Amino acid sequence: MPDLRNELLNFFCILADDEPELILNRKLVLGGWTVQLADGWPVQLAGQVYPKVADPRDSFALQELAIEASACVLCRLAETRQNVVFGVGNPHADLMFIGEAPGADEDRQGEPFVGRAGQLLTKMLKAINLERSQVYIANILKCRPPGNRDPEPDEMESCYPFLKQQIELIRPSIIIALGRVAAIKLLELSPTVSLKSMRGRIFNYNSRPLIVTYHPAALLRSAGLKPQAWEDLQFVLKLHQGQIKWQPEENVRL
Ligand code: URA
Repeated sequence: MPDLRNELLNFFCILADDEPELILNRKLVLGGWTVQLADGWPVQLAGQVYPKVADPRDSFALQELAIEASACVLCRLAETRQNVVFGVGNPHADLMFIGEAPGADEDRQGEPFVGRAGQLLTKMLKAINLERSQVYIANILKCRPPGNRDPEPDEMESCYPFLKQQIELIRPSIIIALGRVAAIKLLELSPTVSLKSMRGRIFNYNSRPLIVTYHPAALLRSAGLKPQAWEDLQFVLKLHQGQIKWQPEENVRL
């Protein structure tokens, strides 16, 4: 990795130590790189305690990974993107939401789920008393497919190692796959599997529970699906609060 990366990380450390709130969520352009600190990092430096035992080295490694991703040219999407959309939220989140790929708004702003579908996701989180900054939100692809076309298999293959590392560093208690594309990729299922057949089950993703629900864009298209999405969120909450028990070897179907 170039020296610039280390310079940036040192620079952020010094800034965060002095005035963490001043750099929170601000995009900094340095030596041609646009870098944005995720919510949780400065908060962590400010000494707040998270419910989960948080290892500061993981959030540091997440920052390093974000910087690496920001320079990624592993697939054709690097040619058309405005920003790499790495992910946002608490680097020690219990709940990690994973969508498909950035759209136009996300590409412009460099943050996942900020367009219409994202605003609905934010409202859904609020409905269960969660702020975006408390969970972690990412996508299978970090770059926007032109015209919002479906991700190509080779694009997902190139990008997936970033998400896998994000999951390993964040160590969420529950993963929520938003929509068919994300669920099928994460669970390595056949592309013909329907979303309906994946709902109401707890899947095993590397010994972490994974729940599948509708993509918020689907809820915008078909408002009639909202009660089912609400059921799915309640299911996530019950699992999180220990009202539903799950063991990695179990294949729970409700
Ligand atoms: N749809 C997605 O799957 N992800 C986003 O970030 C925005 C829209």
